[in-house]
Order: sequence, then C-alpha cells, then structure tokens
Amino acid sequence: MRIKRLRLTGFKSFVDPADLRIEPGLTGVVGPNGCGKSNLLEALRWTMGENSPKSMRGAGMEDVIFAGTATRPPRDFAEVSLLAEVDRPDGAQESEIVRRIERGAGSAYRIDGRDVRAKDVQLLFADSATGAHSPALVSQNRIGAIIAARPAERRAMLEEAAGIAGLHVRRKDAEARMRATEANLARLDEVMSDQA
Ligand code: ATP
Repeated sequence: MRIKRLRLTGFKSFVDPADLRIEPGLTGVVGPNGCGKSNLLEALRWTMGENSPKSMRGAGMEDVIFAGTATRPPRDFAEVSLLAEVDRPDGAQESEIVRRIERGAGSAYRIDGRDVRAKDVQLLFADSATGAHSPALVSQNRIGAIIAARPAERRAMLEEAAGIAGLHVRRKDAEARMRATEANLARLDEVMSDQA
C-alpha cells in the first residue's frame, strides 16, 4: 500500500490544517529539533489504529489533541486523514482513512466516508503489509531496535512486511469464537444429560 497524502488538523503541534503529499520512494522528514517530525510519524501510526498512548508519548489518548500554547487556545478535537493507494473491490484505486478524537468522546474511524471500527482499519493496513507497527515506519529511536531485534521479533517484522500479520489477528478471533462455541456445546451437553 502506498500512502499518498496526509492531512492533519489539531493533532499535537499541527494546530492549523496541514496537508502533505507523499511522493513515491523513500520519504525522510528533516527539520530543527522540536519542529514536529516525530509528531508526523505518530499521526500516521495513530490513523492506522495505534491505541497505546505511551507509544504516542502521552499519558492518555486525548494528549494527541493540540494542548494550546501561550498564544493559542487548546483544541477540542484532532483529525488525521490518510489517502492510500489500494485496489478496492469497486475498482477504485484510492481509499481515505480518517481518525478523529474529541475530548470526552473518544476516537472514531471512517474509511471512504463510512463509519468503521478500529479493528477494520487495523486489518486494512495489516493486510496491506503496513500498519501502526510496520517496519516501513522508522522513527529515530527504532533504528537501533530493528538492528538489535531478537529472532522472534525479527520474524514478526518479516511477517508484517510479508502482509500476513492480518491473518494472525483473524486466527486469534477465530480461536476465541471456537472456544466460546466449545463452552456452549459443553453447557448444552450438561443441560441435555440433566433432562435425560
Ligand atoms: P526532535 O528532533 O527533537 O526529536 P521533532 O522534530 O521530532 O523533535 P516532535 O517531537 O515531533 O519534534 O515535536 C515536539 C513538539 O510538539 C514540541 O514542541 C511539543 O510541545 C509539541 N507537542 C506535542 N504534543 C503536543 C500537543 N498535544 N499540543 C501542542 N503541542 C504539542
């Protein structure tokens, strides 16, 4: 999956709407300390369904909303939109994924204007060999981690790169459903033997 555009409003230091075109090839973000380079990478991961405030360098998820400065009041919401190149079943070749968070109301996701669950967004990216934990998004402190990864961690990275991470999520779901069904069957057996 190729990400073609990133739009941010009220996300961390990006209080005013910002629109970035991402050209094909390797993209690097450069700029002085504190200008928002890491915030951009976090905006990408957040929109892909990242749910750990810690990995967004905050105490709670609402910390991604612009918190205000000496001259500007805080915002009530943050919204990030990604335009991605995908092969859609209807033949279209682009999808817009939007995540929005409002103070006190939590996060909401949309894919091409439809309300969806966080999981739908996570699966969309996992199936396309990308996502919030994708090895394609390399933050400053991750370079060392990738080099020093243990074999099991490296395997997870390769699986993600190969696009099979989504299958693991589905397998876990299927296993949970199977266990619930087995519990129901056992309960049914008990009820039937009570009545026999
Ligand atoms: P460095 O090169 O030092 O790592 P950077 O370019 O990666 O810096 P970021 O860490 O992305 O910079 O941005 C840090 C800036 O974002 C800080 O000025 C911080 O105050 C601001 N910031 C972070 N969260 C918020 C928020 N919720 N509201 C307003 N500003 C925020």
